[in-house]
Amino acid sequence: MSIVHQSLFELKELINKGEMTAVEVTETFLNRAQQLNPKVNAFISFNEKALEEAQRVDQRRQQGEDLGPLAGVPLAIKDLLCTEGLKTTAASKMLHNFIPPYSATVVERLQTAGAVVLGKANLDEFAMGSSNENSFFGPCKNPWSLEHVPGGSSGGSAAAVAASMAPASIGTDTGGSIRQPANFCGIVGVKPTYGRVSRYGIVAFASSLDQAGPMTKTVKDSALMLEVISGQDPHDSTTSSRRVPRWSEALSENLKGLKVGLPKEYFSDQISEDTRKAVENCIEIVKAQGAEVTEVSLPLVKYGIPIYYLIATSEASSNLARYDGVRFGHRSNFQEIPAKDLAEFYSRSRGEGFGSEVKRRIILGTYCLSSGYYDAYYKKASQVRRLLTEQFKKAFEACDVLLSPVTTHPAFRLGERVADPLQMYLNDIYTTATNLAGLPGMSVPAGFSQDGLPIGVQLSAAHFDEQTMFNVAYAIEQALNLTKRWPDVQQ
Ligand code: GLN
Repeated sequence: MSIVHQSLFELKELINKGEMTAVEVTETFLNRAQQLNPKVNAFISFNEKALEEAQRVDQRRQQGEDLGPLAGVPLAIKDLLCTEGLKTTAASKMLHNFIPPYSATVVERLQTAGAVVLGKANLDEFAMGSSNENSFFGPCKNPWSLEHVPGGSSGGSAAAVAASMAPASIGTDTGGSIRQPANFCGIVGVKPTYGRVSRYGIVAFASSLDQAGPMTKTVKDSALMLEVISGQDPHDSTTSSRRVPRWSEALSENLKGLKVGLPKEYFSDQISEDTRKAVENCIEIVKAQGAEVTEVSLPLVKYGIPIYYLIATSEASSNLARYDGVRFGHRSNFQEIPAKDLAEFYSRSRGEGFGSEVKRRIILGTYCLSSGYYDAYYKKASQVRRLLTEQFKKAFEACDVLLSPVTTHPAFRLGERVADPLQMYLNDIYTTATNLAGLPGMSVPAGFSQDGLPIGVQLSAAHFDEQTMFNVAYAIEQALNLTKRWPDVQQ
């Protein structure tokens, strides 16, 4: 078996034992990623210093230094996270040439742990989307079928792992953007509890919802990566001071005594036959591992999409105000046609810099926050959000983990939903509530559709109880044994 299909853990063992150098591993992935990228478009850019970074890891090993837990492993980083000296675009024309002077805390922690940045992964512009079709750099494709979307917004991060262009990656999840592409691409994707992971240096979309997390081939890989990136950060006051457990060392597939809740609102008749079968199979697996399965009810999740799209767009309109062509972002060419006033200066720069989905959201969010409408939209949405969070807390008194589909269907075709934004938003029907409530959530591979497209299952747990969620995911992963099945993407 070629090393490209190996898990992060397996690769790190190879490097640790000296069977392969970090340079060899990085070179292998870099070559493969560069060869496949014209087809998959998972990367916006590659790190020209990747081999140098790998070399440094090898030198440290030769000198007998204590290497970090990710020593020599190359990673794809969603191009929403700042990387010092390396272009960070948010997949927008607005930032197409932005070179950050510092790295996001997540990136810094990965590098301190010995990881090598391979390149920057494609995404929907400013992480707004569910298909990766909103990228200024063109859509990313699903490695299992190049006519299908990889999901979004962290589509590039998911596709890079599924196509074995990188052993693991980092995505961000504001309303489902890690779980949904992980689900469409047949990999593991974890959105941590809000406050686990620092948002410092991550281009902000909706600050009360955004969290970065790992996207990997196995549950154990995700658990390890999350250990590395979690923890309090003085640069982000919303990070929690809680101790970060060693989830990867405590994984257990024995689910005796555990209660798994099935939120009945998430099992609608909208779900495709294939998805239903795969999820039902997971229910059987957790039962076989000793868990008790009960039905729970979360009546307010039916408002998940409207609340999310009011809150996320409101926060986005505020966060994106900084891209005015003066302080940040693309500036129109005023030499040729001068602006007649400041308003035109802004509107031309922003009009050229942002794509249509981003504009739609800024307009919607500005409206929600405007005086006269604030109470009816933003305030009301925040109140219902609070009630929804309470409902989840109640549910977690009755069970330990919630299990549901991630989406109603497997990946859809490129172009199928672009014309209708509402249709696109409905993709997030089962994922947004997790972010609104700040809970940890993940997608773990559950099987394949009849057409050979991956299907995942969504798990979520009480605040800061990632371990229980990981254990259920691990039990499903061990029983299904899908971690050695990868698409055959040809150059
Ligand atoms: N699809 C959702 C949206 O478009 C979620 C995006 C995300 O999680 N970044 O807003």
